[in-house]
Amino acid sequence: MTPELIEARKQFGSILTRSKRAARPDRCLWCGKKITRFCDSHTIPQMVLRNIAIDGKLDYANVILENPLLKADQGIAEADVFHLLCRECDNTLFQDYENPDNLKRLPTGRMLAQIALKDLFLIINKRLIEIQLFNQAKEHEQSFFITHKQEINLLDKRDFFSELDRVRNMLETEDYNFELITWDKVDYKVPVAFQEPLTVYGDMNGDLIVDIYDNTDRTSIKQMHMCVFPLDDCSVIVTFYNKADTEYDRFAEQLRNMDQEKRLKFLGYFMFFISEDMILAKKFPHRTYFYNQVRGMFMDQYDIWTETKEEFEWGKQRNLNRFKYWKADMFPAILTKKYAMKLE
Ligand SMILES: [Zn+2]
Repeated sequence: MTPELIEARKQFGSILTRSKRAARPDRCLWCGKKITRFCDSHTIPQMVLRNIAIDGKLDYANVILENPLLKADQGIAEADVFHLLCRECDNTLFQDYENPDNLKRLPTGRMLAQIALKDLFLIINKRLIEIQLFNQAKEHEQSFFITHKQEINLLDKRDFFSELDRVRNMLETEDYNFELITWDKVDYKVPVAFQEPLTVYGDMNGDLIVDIYDNTDRTSIKQMHMCVFPLDDCSVIVTFYNKADTEYDRFAEQLRNMDQEKRLKFLGYFMFFISEDMILAKKFPHRTYFYNQVRGMFMDQYDIWTETKEEFEWGKQRNLNRFKYWKADMFPAILTKKYAMKLE
């Protein structure tokens, strides 16, 4: 590492630490109890991560992105952590789904609600930190990118909190409105773990699902959920959504209509296209090849938050048609047996 990089890493690290501290609420986001010390909540359950960890270590997607400011490999304990809950809530809220026997069976409505709740905490945590980061950035620079992105961040925050109320209501009334889109259980161990809420822009026909770029006073942003859970002797890939969010109906139908092999290929691409937060094993077949392919994809898919309005519009159009032009062989099929880890 060069001295410049060490210095840049230090500076970025301290801005990030400051933002994380400022973003931390002083009460548990679920029960409202005042907290002095927050516990580390893990988005992807540790019992899932353990299945793909090698000597306790995992790769963060950054190993592919090669962002020099961030650390690429992480221990199980630090991966995908958020700080919003008191210990008691963290220990009790997710029990049904954080159980390998339950995960191997078709999930109940309650399990889906627990996953959705955890997803929400993750994304609320992220936005709260990002809002702080952009507040700091705004002191130095006022660009189209920063102003526009911060407006979206604040709308997101509002929407995520109203979503939290919706899930809370479901858990309290035990009337679960989540519905599986797809549930695939395969008899091998995929080398990647993932759990995140996803906002999908365009469907397989290039039709709009949710306008993620709308910064007018939109009604509310809706998300579907996706999980990839490698377990001890199998893996489970789940997608689901809230039935009330009818904007996803057609996309759900498109996913259900694929046969399993095609669907697994698509979902592997979908996940890497739409997110950067997957966690990978440090060793699996064709790993180098896979990383090279993913790196190419990330480079091709530059951020559309550009300086000019024209480029922005052009990028939007391109993203809308992303899945319409997907072909089964255009991206390494990371969720198929070819990339599976050895079962112990
Ligand atoms: Zn609590």
